[in-house]
Amino acid sequence: MSPIQQRLKNVQSQLPEHIQLVAVSKTKPISIILHAYHAGQRVFGENKVQELQAKYPEMPKDIQWHMIGHLQTNKVKYIAPWIDMIHSVDRMKLLRAINKEAAKAERTIDCLLQFHIAEEDTKFGLDMQEAEQMLESESFQGFENVRIRGVMGMATFTEDMDQVSREFKHLKSIFEQLKTRFFSDNDAFSEISMGMSGDYKIAIEEGATIVRIGSTIFGARDTH
Ligand SMILES: *Cc1c(COP(=O)(O)O)cnc(C)c1O
Repeated sequence: MSPIQQRLKNVQSQLPEHIQLVAVSKTKPISIILHAYHAGQRVFGENKVQELQAKYPEMPKDIQWHMIGHLQTNKVKYIAPWIDMIHSVDRMKLLRAINKEAAKAERTIDCLLQFHIAEEDTKFGLDMQEAEQMLESESFQGFENVRIRGVMGMATFTEDMDQVSREFKHLKSIFEQLKTRFFSDNDAFSEISMGMSGDYKIAIEEGATIVRIGSTIFGARDTH
């Protein structure tokens, strides 16, 4: 086993069965990502359209690609024909663009609403009021080519694990409020994407259903 395969197995062995692992392969070359693929990993996350576009054609076709980074509306068209899930829906304009491009590709694209739960204001995301406005709007009702699967958030980058835990609790509570108000009879609205290399264990304790793990599997990144 290669070191990547060992680290992947080690992470997988710590995840309860119902948790989906998105292996975050951003900045890593195809040759490295293939190690994880050959160890059985099929779900990969990237945060840049350009990188997704470069990797998608080079990699096996049974991979599910997740877009986890900030997404510009004018770039949606490049990934819409094959992206499996978009975690970073943080504004109405973006959801409208995804719906339009998904329709052109004759698909439905799974989306998560990204919430701002961290103290840092550098992180993107909706607040509750913005999300409510979006979900109540008439345009949203008309979107037939997107499916809202749940919520996503990133905790503050801090050593204070109590704070991280509070922020994840907050996201869980957002999920529950939205579920009650807008998705109570919609089984597809079921996902909470939270937890990265430094905090995924806490995220799981706080109710994550999807974790996004990069450096613990692939090693540190040179850039980001
Ligand atoms: C890079 C990234 C991750 C993974 O981060 P690691 O600390 O390497 O596990 C998860 N989520 C998002 C949105 C990211 O950009």
